[in-house]
Amino acid sequence: MADLIRKISRFPEELLDCKVEDVHDVLSGPTLIRLVGDSSLPPMLISTLLHGNEHSGFYALQRFIRQWLNQGTNHRTLLVFIGNTAAAAQNLRFLPNEPDFNRIWRRMDTPIAREATELFESFKDEQLFAAIDIHNNTGENPLYSCVSSLDPRHLGLANYFGEFIVYFTHPESSLSCSMAGICPSVTLECGKSSHPDAVESAYQYLMKVNALDELKLPDSNRHEVFQTIARIRLKSDVRYSFGDRFKDADDLIFNETIEALNFKLLDSEAVIGRYKKPGSILLDAMADKGVEGLLVERNGDIVIRERLVPSMLTKDKRVISQDCLGYLMIKKQ
Ligand SMILES: [Zn+2]
Repeated sequence: MADLIRKISRFPEELLDCKVEDVHDVLSGPTLIRLVGDSSLPPMLISTLLHGNEHSGFYALQRFIRQWLNQGTNHRTLLVFIGNTAAAAQNLRFLPNEPDFNRIWRRMDTPIAREATELFESFKDEQLFAAIDIHNNTGENPLYSCVSSLDPRHLGLANYFGEFIVYFTHPESSLSCSMAGICPSVTLECGKSSHPDAVESAYQYLMKVNALDELKLPDSNRHEVFQTIARIRLKSDVRYSFGDRFKDADDLIFNETIEALNFKLLDSEAVIGRYKKPGSILLDAMADKGVEGLLVERNGDIVIRERLVPSMLTKDKRVISQDCLGYLMIKKQ
C-alpha cells in the first residue's frame, strides 16, 4: 500500500503561490518536503496545516520558502511538513471520522498515526536545531507560543514570538509536545486565520529563527509563562448559546464577551455563564490531578473558583464540540 505520508525533496513550484484550499490538488496528502541546504547550520523542522482550517502558517511558509529559494547560498536545510491537506481543501480542522492531525504523533493505532509515529522516530536522527509548528486560534487571543519544556533553549525559541508563552504537557500526542523530547520545539498560535497580521508575524518569526546559530533566553527578555491546568468541555448534547438571554432549548448560556477573557487574570469567582436550571452540571473542567472542582455553580451562575487565566476560549461551536470551550492556566514564571 502506498504511504499515507509522502516524502519529496523539492518544493513543488505550484505550491509557491497556490491558495490553501488547492494544496491538496498539488500534494495529494500529508507530505514531508526535505530541502537540502548548503550551510553547516543544523536543520529546522517547520510544520503547518496540521489543522486544515488554520491557514496563516501555510501562507507564511510560502513567503519564507520563496525567500529561501532566492537566497543564493548559505541555506539551512529545512524539513517542511504540510499536514492535513484534505481537511484544508474543505476548510476544516480535520475530516469527519478521521483523526486530528495534531493528536497522532504517539501511541495511536490508526494507519496515519502509525506513519506519523515512524516519521517522528526518524526526526530523532536529524540533529534538529528547532521544530516550529504553526497554528491559528478560533477565538480572540493575543499572539502567543507554546512550549513543552522550560529549558532555556525552548523558552528562547518561544521568546522570539512575543511575551506570552504557554507551557503545556498534554496532549502528549501533539507534534510540538512530541518534538520537545528531541529538540527545542514551539507551537506558534498566530491569532485567527483571518487576522491580517497573522501571516506577517509567522513569516517574520521564521526569518528571525532561521538566521540564528544558537538558541538561548536573552538576558533582558520580557516574557510571561503560563501553564495550562485544565480544559473546559461541555457534556455531550448540552444546548447552549452566547448572550444574556436563554433561547428556548438552551440548557445554559455563556457570556457574549467570553473571548475577551483570554490571557486576562480573572478574579476568583469570575462568572462565565449561567445554567437555566440551578444544580445542573453540564460543564467539566478536565483538570490535571489535584485541581478538580475549578468550575462550580453558584445560584445558577457558572463560576471559575480560583484566580486563573483562560486561553483559547472560543464561541465557535464546531471547535467546542470537536475540542473544547477553552483552557484554564496559572502563571508559572
Ligand atoms: Zn491548531
